[in-house]
Amino acid sequence: MPIVNRIAEFHAEMTEWRRDLHAHPELSMHETRTSAMVQAKLREFGVDEIITGMAETGVVGVIRGRKGNSDRAIGLRADMDALPIQEETGLPHASTSPGVMHACGHDGHTTMLLGAAKYLAETRNFDGTAYVIFQPAEEFEAGADKMVKDGLFDRCPMEMVFGLHNWPQAPAGTFLWRTGPVMAAVAWFDIVITGKGSHGAFPHQGIDPIVVAAQIVGALQTIVSRTIEPIEGGVVSVGHISGGEAYNILPERVLMKGTARWFKPAVGDAIEAGVRRLATGIAASFGASAEVSFRRHAPATVNDADATDIAVTAARTVSSDARVLSMTAPTMGGEDFAYMLEAKQGSYLMLGGGRGPDEPLLHHPRYDFNDEILPVGASWWATLAEQMLAGKG
Ligand SMILES: [Zn+2]
Ligand SMILES: [Zn+2]
Repeated sequence: MPIVNRIAEFHAEMTEWRRDLHAHPELSMHETRTSAMVQAKLREFGVDEIITGMAETGVVGVIRGRKGNSDRAIGLRADMDALPIQEETGLPHASTSPGVMHACGHDGHTTMLLGAAKYLAETRNFDGTAYVIFQPAEEFEAGADKMVKDGLFDRCPMEMVFGLHNWPQAPAGTFLWRTGPVMAAVAWFDIVITGKGSHGAFPHQGIDPIVVAAQIVGALQTIVSRTIEPIEGGVVSVGHISGGEAYNILPERVLMKGTARWFKPAVGDAIEAGVRRLATGIAASFGASAEVSFRRHAPATVNDADATDIAVTAARTVSSDARVLSMTAPTMGGEDFAYMLEAKQGSYLMLGGGRGPDEPLLHHPRYDFNDEILPVGASWWATLAEQMLAGKG
């Protein structure tokens, strides 16, 4: 792969960082060790400034180019958090924290951006400023939104911001890009159904919230199929139901949790209204009640056309033209980088990491970031900065 030669030289070093991060995963808003490691590396690379405390564990490294001192600037963003999953890879660098795992490859994203930072701080072959942004809490709690609210773009004025996600289902080293929506808006919802507890043999003496929950699960599936225009994308999934303990006791309460995805804000509004209307209406019709909490985690991730051109040009420089592919459709996956793209022009690409048809997918207990692509992603970020801030030479 025609990656940046100097970056290829520290591939082994990057692999060590990545495996160290992988062995020590931290959940959203708990990335203290990771944040300290990132800060230590940036200090070692000799970046001009390190901004800490943004979104608590967030870190921004400031690197100024040596080709001039224009006020042009670019932002490169990685995420640092892991997931509440018990790792099953059996690898020597597997998680040392029970129940916590880097199953989305954010260890790889952090490492690739550190690789780019090391190279950019060493070469400074650009005119202006490169901000390397390490954000917490991509999976939960919308760390990108927190960083924007903590003044990321005021303290670090930049023209554009770029992110990338590894993509196990695409061959290693390929880039996937798309203009416009690339990932869906995400919401989490909880529905608490309250009935009246009773003996399983005497259901007429209570109001069974389990039967109510069953009606609601089925009805929620009609929101997208019957109330959203068929050509629009949307999904409602119930991922958790709990209530009751015993064979013969009908509980008082049932808890349901789920997620909804969409692209257009109007579709999101219709889905939220539908979840509320069906849950409360169905519960009421049984004499029970339902409390609905519908929380929007991230808007849709929408790529700017000009920024995407710049991102794709850098990808073609790093990989060959044949390995930079346009995505035919967006994915229903979600990404809180959407908040940065709402506030700033930018683009978000996928970088293939697949080693074959059996590659475990993201969020799988046997997933492991493919270290082969570390120099590819690092080269893409470094090339983006050098090309966008090329200056006059
Ligand atoms: Zn994830
Ligand atoms: Zn992720």
